[in-house]
Amino acid sequence: MRPFTSTISLDEARRRLDAAVRPIARTERVAIEHAAGRVAASDVTAPMDVPPFARSAMDGYAVVAADTAGASKSTPARLRQLDRIYTGQPSSVTIAPGTCAEIATGAPLPAGADAVVMVEETAKTGDEIQIFAPATAGHHVGRRGADIAAGDRVISSGDVLSPSRVGALAAIGCVDVEVFAKPRVAILSTGNEVVEPGRTPKPGQIFDVNRFTLGAIVSAHGGVPEPQHPAQDTVDALVAALDTCAQMDLVVFSGGSSVGERDLVVDAIALRGEMIFHGIAVRPGKPTAFARVKGTPFFGMPGNPTSCLSNAYILLVPFLRAIARLPPHTPRTVQAPLGRRIVSAAGRHQFYTVRLRNGIAFPAFKGSGDITSLSQADGYIEIPSDQSVVEERAMVMVTLF
Ligand code: AMP
Ligand code: MG
Repeated sequence: MRPFTSTISLDEARRRLDAAVRPIARTERVAIEHAAGRVAASDVTAPMDVPPFARSAMDGYAVVAADTAGASKSTPARLRQLDRIYTGQPSSVTIAPGTCAEIATGAPLPAGADAVVMVEETAKTGDEIQIFAPATAGHHVGRRGADIAAGDRVISSGDVLSPSRVGALAAIGCVDVEVFAKPRVAILSTGNEVVEPGRTPKPGQIFDVNRFTLGAIVSAHGGVPEPQHPAQDTVDALVAALDTCAQMDLVVFSGGSSVGERDLVVDAIALRGEMIFHGIAVRPGKPTAFARVKGTPFFGMPGNPTSCLSNAYILLVPFLRAIARLPPHTPRTVQAPLGRRIVSAAGRHQFYTVRLRNGIAFPAFKGSGDITSLSQADGYIEIPSDQSVVEERAMVMVTLF
C-alpha cells in the first residue's frame, strides 16, 4: 500500500482541469440532417435572399393597397379577380388598380400588387371580390429577403447547431456544414476481476459497469466513446493500453487508481506521461488521477461504479464539453427539505445522492461500490468539506441528474 499523502481540493482539481483544456481543432463536414447538436467550425453566409421572392403571408387576395382605402363592411371596395395563384406557381398577370388575384399563403405576390387582404375580410360573387377592410402597402406580404438577406451571416463559428439553426441553414440551401469533430474518448476498465457482458463470470469476477456508464456520459456530452477491452492489473498491460488509447482525444480509465498493491495506473502513468493530480478531497471519488499521456489528457477514475460515475458528472463532463467546444452543462436544481439527517466525512467535499419523494429529499447513498446509489437516486446534494452534519428538515439544493 502507498497511502495518499496528500489530496487536492475540488476547486484546485477544477482549476487544473480548466487549465488543461485544449478545445478540439479537427473539423469535418456533416450533412445538415446530422448537424443538430454539433458546433459550427466556420461562419456561414447566406448566398441568397430568404424568402427569395415577395410572398403572401395569408390566404386571401393580392391587391393594390390604394384600392382598399376606406373599405368597410358597409362600403366595400370592389375588385375584379384576374387569377388564382398557388404556391410554387408565379403568376404572369399584373394587378392593375381595380383588379386582384386570389392568392395562397406562400405564393409569390404578382406584379403590381403590394398588399394581401385575408380571405376572412372578403366576399366573392363570380369574379367580383368585395373587400371589407383597408390594407396598407406591405400588409400580409413577406418581403423578399425579410427573413435572411443575401450576405447575412446565418451561423457564426462556435455556434451550437440547435434545431432552429439547422433550419436557417436549410433555408439558404445548405446541404452540409463544417463542424468541429466530436472528441474521441477511449474508455477502458482495469482489473483482473472485470469481465465483459455476454461472458459467464468466473468465481470472483464481476461484470464491467464503468465502461457503460462512462460511455453513456461521453455520448450525452458531445464525445464519441471508443470502448476498449478491460486491461489486466499489470504495468505492462496498462502501458500497452495507454499507448493505444493516447491516440484518441481523451482517455478515461477506471479502476486501479487507488493505493492498493494492484493499483498500477499511477505506475503506468509514471512511465508514459505526466501526472497533474492524484487524489481529490471529495467523497465519493477520492482516488482520481488526471494526467497527460503523450500530450493526451487522461482521467484515471476510481473503480467503484458510484465513485466513477459521480466523478464523471463532476469532473469529466465539464472537461469533455470544453474540449468539444460545447457550452457548460447546467443541470436543473430543486430546493427540498432533507428527509433524514446525514453525517458527512469531515475534510472532504461530499456528493450525497438523494431520492425525491413528495418534495422531500431522502438519502439514497448506499456505498461507493453500489451502482444503485445512483440508479435509484434523482440527484445529489453537496456537503462542503467544513460541514459534517446536515440535519433532518434542513433545506438542501438537489442537483438533478
Ligand atoms: P479499484 O479502483 O480498481 O480498486 O476497484 C474498486 C472496486 O470497484 C472493486 O470492488 C472493483 O472490483 C470495482 N470495479 C473496478 N472496476 C470496475 C468496473 N469496470 N465495473 C464494476 N466494478 C468495478
Ligand atoms: Mg482494480
